Amino acid sequence: MTEPAPLMLFNSLTRQLEPFQPVHPGEARVYSCGPTVYNYPHIGNMRAYVFADILGRTLSFKGYKLTHVINITDVGHLTDDADAGEDKLEKAAKENAQSIWDIARHYTEAYWADIKALNIRQPAHWSIATDYVQKMIEFAKTIADKHCYELDSGLYFDVSTVADYGRLARAATEEGEGRIEQVDGKRHQADFAIWRKTPAGEKRQMEWDSPWGRGAPGWHLECSVMSGELLGFPFDIHTGGIDHREIHHPNEIAQNQAFCCTNGLDLAANSGARVWMHNNFLVERSGKMSKSSGEFLRLQLLIDKGYHPLAYRMMCLQAHYRSELEFSWEGLGAALVRLKRLVMGVGNVRAQAAAASESGPKFAPFLERFGAAMAEDLNSPVALTVLEEVVALKKVDAAEKLAAIATMDVVLGLDLLTIVRTDLRVRPKAATITEAEIEATLAARKEARAAKDFATSDKLRDELTAQGVEVMDGDPLGWDWKLG
Ligand code: AMP
Ligand code: ZN
Repeated sequence: MTEPAPLMLFNSLTRQLEPFQPVHPGEARVYSCGPTVYNYPHIGNMRAYVFADILGRTLSFKGYKLTHVINITDVGHLTDDADAGEDKLEKAAKENAQSIWDIARHYTEAYWADIKALNIRQPAHWSIATDYVQKMIEFAKTIADKHCYELDSGLYFDVSTVADYGRLARAATEEGEGRIEQVDGKRHQADFAIWRKTPAGEKRQMEWDSPWGRGAPGWHLECSVMSGELLGFPFDIHTGGIDHREIHHPNEIAQNQAFCCTNGLDLAANSGARVWMHNNFLVERSGKMSKSSGEFLRLQLLIDKGYHPLAYRMMCLQAHYRSELEFSWEGLGAALVRLKRLVMGVGNVRAQAAAASESGPKFAPFLERFGAAMAEDLNSPVALTVLEEVVALKKVDAAEKLAAIATMDVVLGLDLLTIVRTDLRVRPKAATITEAEIEATLAARKEARAAKDFATSDKLRDELTAQGVEVMDGDPLGWDWKLG
């Protein structure tokens, strides 16, 4: 057997594929920027966590002991990623006349429900930003003298005090940072608040005392503190959506450099993490991804329309994480059909073998190709096709085949050894007709057709159509009807 392919990952900091070399032998420590819990996550946000999950599963598959941290931002993220606007949570609390803590709890739980529905593994730690405020103050105190200055509005980080500021974004010029709102007194446009003072005469629901007055931590500070605290600098991999490559992560890096007393970014580990990875965006043309549009694309909307949540996971896996992915209902429908095919194929294998055995030499080349695809910067689209080849193999031992499928599914996380065909039939929220009624009408229609009574058969079909049931005669998947 040939050596397994080394794990190659694309490092945004160097813009290169690099072999993964853990800081601590045999371990992988990963930090993922988590959601700001002022609203439901949209499915684009969830793409970031499907990606982090696939990364974590691949690291485990490669034998590394994984420690994964995802944070929950319940304070400090302004309506603009730079220093402009209001705190997202304070704003939501005001609009809904609710306690900010209730809002944070409600949306954190909604986010966790999506995590579960997408079969994303639980990280070792969910770090909640408000639990770390004292640590943030300590961190800020450590770097304040050398790297920060105080203004009326807060404590600001001077980006000129660290080497290579903005290298991650490749836009470290003053012009490049032009979209950052000007704050009176800032030394450089890119300087950012690490502590925001509550304006005189105002009271925020979330505020703490600090050496720079009562106020709240800056969003970038949170991630530096929680990642360093839980994983130790330097840790292995920091992830986030590609938008974070522009402001949030360069600012985290600058703080980490200041805190670790290290120098330039020619040595990636000086940034606090050895590898910075970013998933590309899920895009949608009609604006339904915007949380300000009434019905926006959250996972529950997909489920309400009758799509199993794992169809969305399949949709993510079909694209490489660094490619933009365009959402459409047709695309989601196609991903669901592909998942149905797999579930039915695996269902047949499960019917033949009660349990998986060792996978056997016949499957070794497939597992090798599968592993090589995932090792090539998480090439899940290719890995999926290898899985499908295995499912389609004829005249092989079923228990061995099941073992090979199980190994691959541990990485892809489609839950193929648990879900069954009927799980994928999700009832749309708007549907009123019951499954029993559909089956009964279809049985009557079959009889009418057998008696060559096509008028009745057509009438029954029209009745079903009127109730949102699509009759699928001769569907290769044996899926006779669909509620839509
Ligand atoms: P937020 O809650 O806004 O901090 O975002 C949570 C995560 O989702 C971050 O990693 C973002 O970079 C990521 N993200 C935001 N929008 C999208 C999108 N349309 N597609 C993929 N990832 C996104
Ligand atoms: Zn972050």
